[in-house]
Amino acid sequence: MTPLTKAIRAKRISNTPPYLFAEIDRKKAAAIEKGIDLISFGIGDPDLPTPKHIVDAMHAAIDDAKTHDYPPYEGTKEFREAVAVWMYKRFGVSIDPVKEAMALIGSKEAIAHIHTALVDKDDVCLIPSPSYPVYRVATIFSEGIPYNMPLKEANGFLPDLKKIPADVLAKAKLIWVNYPNNPTGAVCDLSFYEELVVFAKKNNIIICSDNAYSEMTYDGFVAPSILQVPGAKDVAIEFLSLSKAYNMTGWRLGMAVGNEELIAALGIVKTNTDSGQFKAIQKAGAVALTAPQDSIREMNAIYQKRRDAMVYGLNSLGWNIQPIKGTFYIWAKVPPRFKSSADFCGHVLDETGVVLVPGNGYGDEGEGYFRAAITVSVEKIEEGIRRLKEKSITFK
Ligand SMILES: *Cc1c(COP(=O)(O)O)cnc(C)c1O
Repeated sequence: MTPLTKAIRAKRISNTPPYLFAEIDRKKAAAIEKGIDLISFGIGDPDLPTPKHIVDAMHAAIDDAKTHDYPPYEGTKEFREAVAVWMYKRFGVSIDPVKEAMALIGSKEAIAHIHTALVDKDDVCLIPSPSYPVYRVATIFSEGIPYNMPLKEANGFLPDLKKIPADVLAKAKLIWVNYPNNPTGAVCDLSFYEELVVFAKKNNIIICSDNAYSEMTYDGFVAPSILQVPGAKDVAIEFLSLSKAYNMTGWRLGMAVGNEELIAALGIVKTNTDSGQFKAIQKAGAVALTAPQDSIREMNAIYQKRRDAMVYGLNSLGWNIQPIKGTFYIWAKVPPRFKSSADFCGHVLDETGVVLVPGNGYGDEGEGYFRAAITVSVEKIEEGIRRLKEKSITFK
């Protein structure tokens, strides 16, 4: 019993739904308790190790006592210069490493903090549905108003900008986009970004582009950066991450690049909230960005095989899924005989021990879908498909 009589939780967190994976973890624990051997297509965390040359750079960096003190708030000069070199080599985009780049403690913190920096009470944030849950929750934490932009399969999971009402646009402060996309696996090409920059300038809206999966693409597709659009830097900030590109999720390193005033605003929140990422990690990150990028090709070849196994497997059970061109997520429809995403994913877990994520966890438009992450081996994927087949879990 708590001796406190006042409400403990601030209003801003009182209505926050439990984090999506908390409920899934509870169900997983119950299944393990029953002795079920799980195959998890749940959380999007790479199962492969960080490439050796990056780990080796970390070993050397940590032995150097000069890395042990507080880092500069905006990131080390070495890391930000590596970001600038990488942005140029990778996208042909020139950025000033001093004013237009900032190191992040993983991109998630900045994706949340940018709302603190930009959003006042009752400002509207245009948020895709389905999407990574942080955009919506961080909008609410800043007392802004999330406006759902439905991502429809018929439109390639791109938002239809023309459908956003004028009164919403008048109050809109920023728009989120994320391609290659979590959870749908959709990609966009540069022409979408061109259209978006025109839209943002016309309506006076800031573009926040989450490019966490920029390097994870297949079939020769190369994901663009919004900063490749001439003039994008007037209105856009882009969040990039070493997590997925170099299997470094636990290291917590990412970068924000783009408009210098947006970077400076983010910097005000960050200097008053955190004290930067460990210099040794930034040294290893600089190596990741500037060394030959073979590890990315090798990793994508592995994911592409897994993607093929998952798509082939589900299609053999009656689904009609097109192979994704980016991310490590398969986004598929729940069979019509189930009443909801949660109903289907619960049934699959109970019957087979296969963990899938219900699509409604990514927003209302995700209802009727599930997400399967290909962060396990081809053998495990085939085993998962076999288990579905054994229990007659087919699309029709
Ligand atoms: C994984 C992920 C991120 C954040 O990754 P960090 O590890 O915090 O850099 C951001 N956006 C999306 C859509 C993601 O899936």
